[in-house]
Amino acid sequence: MNATESDILVEVNDLKMHFPVLRGLLKRQVASVQAVDGVSFKIRRGETLGLVGESGCGKTTTGRCVLRLYDPTSGQIVFDGHDITHLKKQQIRPIRREISLIFQDPFSSLDPRQTAGQIVGEPMKIHKLTQNDSEYQDTLAELFKTVGLDPAMLDRVPHEFSGGQRQRIGIARALASQPSLIVCDEPISALDVSIQAQIINLLQELQEGNEGLTYLFIAHDLSVVRHISDRVAVMYLGRIVELTEAVNLFDNPKHPYTRALLSAVPIADPVFEESREWIPLEGEVPSPLNPPSGCTFHPRCQFVMEKCKKISPVLKETEPGHEVACHLVK
Ligand code: SF4
Repeated sequence: MNATESDILVEVNDLKMHFPVLRGLLKRQVASVQAVDGVSFKIRRGETLGLVGESGCGKTTTGRCVLRLYDPTSGQIVFDGHDITHLKKQQIRPIRREISLIFQDPFSSLDPRQTAGQIVGEPMKIHKLTQNDSEYQDTLAELFKTVGLDPAMLDRVPHEFSGGQRQRIGIARALASQPSLIVCDEPISALDVSIQAQIINLLQELQEGNEGLTYLFIAHDLSVVRHISDRVAVMYLGRIVELTEAVNLFDNPKHPYTRALLSAVPIADPVFEESREWIPLEGEVPSPLNPPSGCTFHPRCQFVMEKCKKISPVLKETEPGHEVACHLVK
């Protein structure tokens, strides 16, 4: 990745998030869930980094650590040149203005008792971003128009909107604090297929019209991140196993897990469809409570070697801008 220090908005170094499992009256720790186990990546200003993997791979936990909704077990999160890993509650407030979240479920993430205007306006009030009521109302109306909603609907409550419209409200709320980074946590997975493309297009248009707006886009579906991401990181059981440009990931996947995920993605090209390899992905993701030894993918990998069961492969650059963690890939 050829980027200068000032191009980098987010830098995550060896991030670990282990949740303790407590038992008994004395709440003794008996184990820990290794949800994120040594994740490192950088996101450039104005870039979209896709973070993909099956359910339980740690992608949402990684996003919540970047948002500082969780206190990481170890590692470092640098945002816009500032180490935010262990900031206290009061110190984190200005950062919260800079980093927004779009939730997965637009049905449960909006307070049913608030009007759409109150929901979208809340971050502006918290961060005191407008000088007076008329500026507040004008900004609200502008935000509604930006996400394709009629400002005449400001006084309606969430149940009066469709799923797609509710997610537009969620996006307007995320934009209201004028953030430089938005963590999009599976923002289309709860929506009808017919609406999904509209929301992806809206997110892309917002980024094009807002220089420097950066996304960490979390999804379990590779076909979704393909269209929106500049680069993609594939996660498996708390670790990144492959990270490269989105186009390169689809044209030249190297990690057996990525190849298996990709072979299940439908491609609307019969010639390509016929020629591509089919790699079955069998079994479930093992529990992060008791991850397999060595390469954690080894129980599901059809290329497994003895070495894989003992030694964990390190994520390393195999070609410029293409990092892979696999003993097979030199
Ligand atoms: Fe498969 Fe071994 Fe590579 Fe892991 S390190 S993905 S088990 S070949």
